[in-house]
Amino acid sequence: MAEELKHVGGEKLRYCSRCGAPLVVRLIETEDRPRLMCDRGHIHYVNPVVIVGVIPERRGRILLMRRAIEPRLGTWTFPGGFMEIDETVEEAAAREAHEEVGLHVRVLDLIGLYSRPGPTPGPGIVSIVFRGTVATGRAEAGREALEVRWFKPEDIPWDDLTYETTGWALSRWLEHKRRTARR
Ligand SMILES: [Zn+2]
Repeated sequence: MAEELKHVGGEKLRYCSRCGAPLVVRLIETEDRPRLMCDRGHIHYVNPVVIVGVIPERRGRILLMRRAIEPRLGTWTFPGGFMEIDETVEEAAAREAHEEVGLHVRVLDLIGLYSRPGPTPGPGIVSIVFRGTVATGRAEAGREALEVRWFKPEDIPWDDLTYETTGWALSRWLEHKRRTARR
């Protein structure tokens, strides 16, 4: 059973959230893959989670924070986290920046959109990263950060970033910076 559950994702789901009956994996005619279902026919779809981040910039420097929590404790990243059910992606980016580094960030254009299929090592993710500017305010480490620091582009700690996607987004930020500087 555990093996089958992996194919549909949601390996920790055991009971129907609508009626409380046990969930089983079934292949039904209207679906193109096995789904988690209860006896009363409630289908549980397991979908990727959306993560939103923003790279805050001020006077040519970007703000990074060092993670105070697992996974990847002690590595550097920009503010970001799970999107809540009642907000837009821009609102999520601004909220994460305020929670994690104490800044009011003006969220600008999209830097990139990255995805990692699940189900292993975790759920599938969709990661959306924006550029942002900071006019005023002092950066402070929130409860998920050990420290915060403004980096010049040449000082970005490439070998000590949280995820591969963190590096991809920062590279795109740099490319954009160089392109606009040449104009
Ligand atoms: Zn049910």
